[in-house]
Amino acid sequence: MKPDDSYDIIVVGAGPAGSTAAAYAAKNGLSVLLIDKKKDIGTPLQCGGFLPHYETLKELVPNAELPYTLENYPSSCIHTTTSYQRFIAPSGKSKGFDVNADALDRRRFDRYLAKEASRVGAQLMIGTSVNSLNGTTIKTDGAFGEHTIKSKVIIGADGPNSIVARSKGLIREIDIMGMGNAFEYELSGVDVDKDAVEMYFGKEYVPGGYAWIISQGGNCANIGVGIREALFEHGMCARDYLDKFMYEHPIASNKLKDGSIISIVSGIVPVGGAPKKTATKDTLIAGDAAGHVIATNGGGISTAMIGGKIAGETAVDFINGKCALTDYDKRWRLQMGLEIKTAVYIRKLIDGLMRSDSMMSQAINAISPEHMKAIQCGRLPDVVKKSLLKMNIGLG
Ligand SMILES: Cc1cc2nc3c(=O)[nH]c(=O)nc-3n(C[C@H](O)[C@H](O)[C@H](O)COP(=O)(O)OP(=O)(O)OC[C@H]3O[C@@H](n4cnc5c(N)ncnc54)[C@H](O)[C@@H]3O)c2cc1C
Repeated sequence: MKPDDSYDIIVVGAGPAGSTAAAYAAKNGLSVLLIDKKKDIGTPLQCGGFLPHYETLKELVPNAELPYTLENYPSSCIHTTTSYQRFIAPSGKSKGFDVNADALDRRRFDRYLAKEASRVGAQLMIGTSVNSLNGTTIKTDGAFGEHTIKSKVIIGADGPNSIVARSKGLIREIDIMGMGNAFEYELSGVDVDKDAVEMYFGKEYVPGGYAWIISQGGNCANIGVGIREALFEHGMCARDYLDKFMYEHPIASNKLKDGSIISIVSGIVPVGGAPKKTATKDTLIAGDAAGHVIATNGGGISTAMIGGKIAGETAVDFINGKCALTDYDKRWRLQMGLEIKTAVYIRKLIDGLMRSDSMMSQAINAISPEHMKAIQCGRLPDVVKKSLLKMNIGLG
């Protein structure tokens, strides 16, 4: 594949944010190059694949216009469908709420999104790293050689370690609690609840986070821990915590310990929120690169796609002389800024409670299923805020 010398828009990263941005820009008639360093889109996997259904997402982010690809993805991208989310407190007691969701096959889902971007006109260049940016000119290197390519707008959808965000100074101040470490296994030979996604809490197993079990249908499951390195015990790493959860947790190990590990997955989850600025006069960032993640659960597939859609549309409007590129900041914050910001605030409150297993168990016991659901979506009912604040004060 030989790229052209210049494009209207270059999108760096063909994950959910980048492929969505590229699709929305290309279907509006602009020339778009979508670049990813992966030689095989979607691989290696870096996700649990939990995605609430379209109707539920409309409730979760009510002001957002959801991309069509969140509604119409093929059934071949779905491992299985679940209808309940269960929280297991450190005490072992559980509670939950109804939520219809898919356990996605993220490898297939990412390929579907990239193919969709290419179907509507974006040019895809895989196996290619963007190594540097100078204004809107990029230098690449990879499977198709070295290239210098110009554009009018760059969209950085290149994940939590975004080179685009760093090059353009679109980053948050350093906050070690704002970065989660996720480590997961895909397992076969396990008998887990096929209708429910489970989230386990307890500082001994998951310091500053939670462990999940997501059925992949049949006898397969995705299990993982999303935890904070700043809270690890000396000498422990994320993998040690996942092994401890799988083989020693008093409830989970009964379902998991005889499973065979068929893949190992790890990654970073930015749970510190968005930087102050996500746009410059010639560059936008979207998805994990822009902190478009719901910090209470680390979920970022849907928010990355919403951010990508808005980035693609804003780039088109800018090139057509209809807006300033920096309007992007306002546009995405209007659609999902409140949920993202509130989720960070709730995460910080819950961080306090997670220092004590008994407090965490009390909180899970005290919060109603409806309120739990609200918290998961980045909303904080007043009554819950008051009791969380009171418990935090109790911790001193
Ligand atoms: C282990 C784990 C489990 C998770 N589970 C869930 C879950 O169950 N549900 C959920 O909603 N969210 C989950 N998340 C979060 C979710 O995966 C991310 O929020 C989502 O993938 C963000 O999409 P994105 O497009 O912004 O970034 P990414 O999916 O990270 O895509 C970025 C792309 O950019 C490419 N790239 C990076 N740098 C360059 C470069 N210099 N040049 C070219 N290409 C580059 C990468 O190869 C990658 O393909 C999980 C995250 C992890 C790590």
